Amino acid sequence: MPQVERLSSIFPSVVGISLHAREDYQPSLTQGFDYDLAIVGGGIVGATLAAALKDSGLRVVVIEAQPQSVAVAKGQAYAIHLSSSHIYEEIGVWDAIAPQVEYFTHVHLSDAHCPHVVKFRPADLKTPVLGYVAEHRVLLQELLQFLKTCDHVDWLCPAQVIATHYHRTGVEVDIAPPTSAETEGGSTALPRTVRVRMVVAADGARSQIRQQAGIPTQGWDYWQSCLVATIAPEKFHNHIAYERFWPSGPFAILPIAKDRCRIVWTAPHTQAQALLKLPEDEFIALLQQRYGSQMGKLTLVGQRFLFPAKWMHSKQYVAPRLALVGDAAHTCHPVGGQGLNLGIRDAAALAQVLQIAQFRGLDIGDIQVLRQYQQWRRRQNWLALGLTDILNRIFSNRWFVVVPIRRFGLKLLQWITPLRVFTLRFMAGLSGRWSPTGLSPSDSKQRPSPHLVQQKIIFDNKG
Ligand SMILES: Cc1cc2nc3c(=O)[nH]c(=O)nc-3n(C[C@H](O)[C@H](O)[C@H](O)COP(=O)(O)OP(=O)(O)OC[C@H]3O[C@@H](n4cnc5c(N)ncnc54)[C@H](O)[C@@H]3O)c2cc1C
Repeated sequence: MPQVERLSSIFPSVVGISLHAREDYQPSLTQGFDYDLAIVGGGIVGATLAAALKDSGLRVVVIEAQPQSVAVAKGQAYAIHLSSSHIYEEIGVWDAIAPQVEYFTHVHLSDAHCPHVVKFRPADLKTPVLGYVAEHRVLLQELLQFLKTCDHVDWLCPAQVIATHYHRTGVEVDIAPPTSAETEGGSTALPRTVRVRMVVAADGARSQIRQQAGIPTQGWDYWQSCLVATIAPEKFHNHIAYERFWPSGPFAILPIAKDRCRIVWTAPHTQAQALLKLPEDEFIALLQQRYGSQMGKLTLVGQRFLFPAKWMHSKQYVAPRLALVGDAAHTCHPVGGQGLNLGIRDAAALAQVLQIAQFRGLDIGDIQVLRQYQQWRRRQNWLALGLTDILNRIFSNRWFVVVPIRRFGLKLLQWITPLRVFTLRFMAGLSGRWSPTGLSPSDSKQRPSPHLVQQKIIFDNKG
């Protein structure tokens, strides 16, 4: 697999925190907290944040409701942008992930029934590849392996957070008592309450932590659902990712490991339900019509899954002693493969803000510190979320006014290289403020010795 260039040297890396340490604030160990930080939700975003805090000296607990074996087994696959792979390189986990993911060198974008195709190539970014496709299992498994080597991170699972109580200097996080099955599984050692300096909500789109904190959101449900499936094509995918816009919704084909492809087929709810229930041979026949013949005969591998498409943006990402990351802060249409990538960038940005605050002796839960993260990420996410919504609305319709305009737009994208490069950089998360997770040299000089904390990873024994 070609190695991508490291971009950290060409992106600005320093967060402009200009806060001064609060005089009344004392570092955590003297205040009787169990941990500095509780990350509620051990999905990929929560695990990325914990891993990105590896050198922070902060004591972190990740609290995940599902047993490890269930959390890892989620049958999803994601387009991973270059910005995300660079964040994982900076953390030090990419070398373990890279051999298990597939890369794509080209993206072909087209409007159905129109022969014109916009082709994004490596030359547009001056990189050997344009991105990767990773299975959920691979990302989460490797992050968990990495976290086992971080002696300041504890991982509690299965452990569901049921309430959070915010105080002036810290937060109490209540964990549900184990079910009888979990008790039999040996999870009785889990604490019922943990006291922390701040909480991060990484608990997904229906975030209970966000709702309990009363943080408002804006958003809507789309008229579409996304059917996802894995197929084995007869011919090799040639490392090309396709996004084809049909009036019913976008249709994406992503190359994944072991010469397979992942399809994300968006259609109005009833059509998508019907596709899910179709006998396999009829489904494959329809898929073949949509796919075309370029990859020969198609074989379905495994199950088909359906996800309703939603758009949601939280009006605030932070409150005193609370920050939201990933789907807890925003959810978008899968077109363009943005959702998880935005969450990975949230995690990297928040890690950097917290790390710098910690090294400067600031209170990490202070709203002034947390606002640095909100200012960094909320506007950038809003632009990406907005783009997914516009793309879906402009392309998922047959309105005679819109059709020629969008086709002309695609032609401009193909003809005007700077426009194509700008679009690709934006979609790949390479424009705007970028976050390597490390500290700037001036910050690293202020780094105190890490706390000497005994490693304590509490897994259920089914994982
Ligand atoms: C069809 C489809 C295709 C997609 N394709 C892409 C793509 O190609 N690229 C991309 O970037 N994104 C894609 N996405 C978006 C991506 O799936 C999400 O953005 C991403 O999974 C969000 O990760 P997360 O860690 O924030 O949340 P989640 O994955 O939802 O994780 C939240 C975790 O919190 C835990 N939890 C919840 N409540 C509690 C509690 N009270 N206590 C303890 N734990 C709790 C849950 O068990 C879960 O493990 C796609 C989405 C869909 C629907």
